[in-house]
Amino acid sequence: MDLLTRLRALEAISRTLDPPRAEREALLGAAAEYGNAFVDQIENLPVYVSNQGTGEGLYDSPIGDTPVPIAELLALIKTNVDTPGINPASGGHLGYIPGGGITQSAVADYLAAITNRYAGVFFASPGAVRMENMLLDWMAGMVGYPAGTVGNLTSGGSIANLIGIVTARDARGVTARDIPRAVVYATTHAHHSLDKALRIAGLRECPLRHVPMDARYRMDADALHAMVAADQKAGLRPWLVIASAGTTDVGAIDPLSAIADVAQRHGLWFHCDGAYGAFFALLPDIRARLSGMERSDSIIMDPHKGLFLPYGSGAVLIKDKQAMVDAHYYVANYMQDTLHARDEASPADLSPELTKHFRGLRLWLPLKLLGVAPFRAALEEKLLLAQYFHDAIQQIPGFEVGPTPDLSVVTFRYVPTRGDADAFNAQLVQAIHNDGRVFLSSSQIDGRFTIRLAVLAFRTHLAQVDLTLDMLRDHVARLEGRT
Ligand SMILES: *Cc1c(COP(=O)(O)O)cnc(C)c1O
Repeated sequence: MDLLTRLRALEAISRTLDPPRAEREALLGAAAEYGNAFVDQIENLPVYVSNQGTGEGLYDSPIGDTPVPIAELLALIKTNVDTPGINPASGGHLGYIPGGGITQSAVADYLAAITNRYAGVFFASPGAVRMENMLLDWMAGMVGYPAGTVGNLTSGGSIANLIGIVTARDARGVTARDIPRAVVYATTHAHHSLDKALRIAGLRECPLRHVPMDARYRMDADALHAMVAADQKAGLRPWLVIASAGTTDVGAIDPLSAIADVAQRHGLWFHCDGAYGAFFALLPDIRARLSGMERSDSIIMDPHKGLFLPYGSGAVLIKDKQAMVDAHYYVANYMQDTLHARDEASPADLSPELTKHFRGLRLWLPLKLLGVAPFRAALEEKLLLAQYFHDAIQQIPGFEVGPTPDLSVVTFRYVPTRGDADAFNAQLVQAIHNDGRVFLSSSQIDGRFTIRLAVLAFRTHLAQVDLTLDMLRDHVARLEGRT
């Protein structure tokens, strides 16, 4: 076969990667139908499924050369992916920190994928980069950061924390020889992604001080101050304090202003983890409680939590542009064309990524389509639902609750009439999981098995919280042997 014949034969096959309009419509139609049926059914679907396999049916359809029709593939996805495990799109998801999955973002993801703009570099897609920077500016305004703040839309909070920690490390000039003396401060309730970030950033051997907390699990800023002063006196080099604007365990907001005072006084980098809590700053009442976060040097937040986006959306903001650039900027010979167009900072210069998903569109489209008001309303609704639950659960005999929620997490446990409380609550969570109509998670708080209710799914409304109360009442009665 000559070259041209071979090329024509290959083209005929490779063109299946680029289907004609009718096929595109059929594909999209099938996907849209699947998505619509899923959403239409969402209230009837269990939020946790543990008895329908673990997706092993996928292996019965190996990757190979045989084309499989979309209907068959959607059936495979439904059985193996969209059935077993947790259904995070459900309003019954009240465990961990729930995520989102709004339709407007799904549509934006389709648009971002089909046009596939290169959002990593301004030269390649000035519009995509401007859109992302505009969103970062909007977030900066929301948390009270000044003009000139830079940042990055990340895949999630963990990578956002990593970018913050790496920038802090370089800004404070912490190098290998300083590490054994370079002290880091956080509470035991700081998110584990920060420990992970420290480790990945080569800072595993930094002394890590766990600052005591008050009765509501907020950092004790006086204790922080005393620890930093003692460490300085001992010849160590305190350099980083990590505070939470909403802890994962209990939703506590650390005293950010007082922590900022200590950081300022002692020259510490102040990193604020707002993965869960920062978007509550859209509510004026909560903004006041978050006061001080605008004095941090870096802050992270997760649109896939507090703005109800599908998974894959975090953000980090850093006030000191030069520090963020110094920690991440590289040039390479084969990138020389890109150097001419530099009106705005490029994500590739401010993050570990080069090529990346155009994440801005899934945030921009919903905010523009709907305006901010529904997001604000939904956040206030979640906050009030948590308060409602905190009040109501105390009316059920035998339950004891954790602190009045700073945000939308409530902790509680049942004290059984006889027997071990930890074991009873473990059984209670197991019973809720087996039931499957709502999903709660648990944690160890002060060494005790504690159940958590976290309201942040956009589909969680009064009905789901009332259902949770009914389920807790019923399962406790059964476990206590009353029914
Ligand atoms: C969820 C969370 C993180 C981690 O974010 P991911 O998006 O899961 O990577 C960090 N900190 C807090 C407080 C969180 O709630």
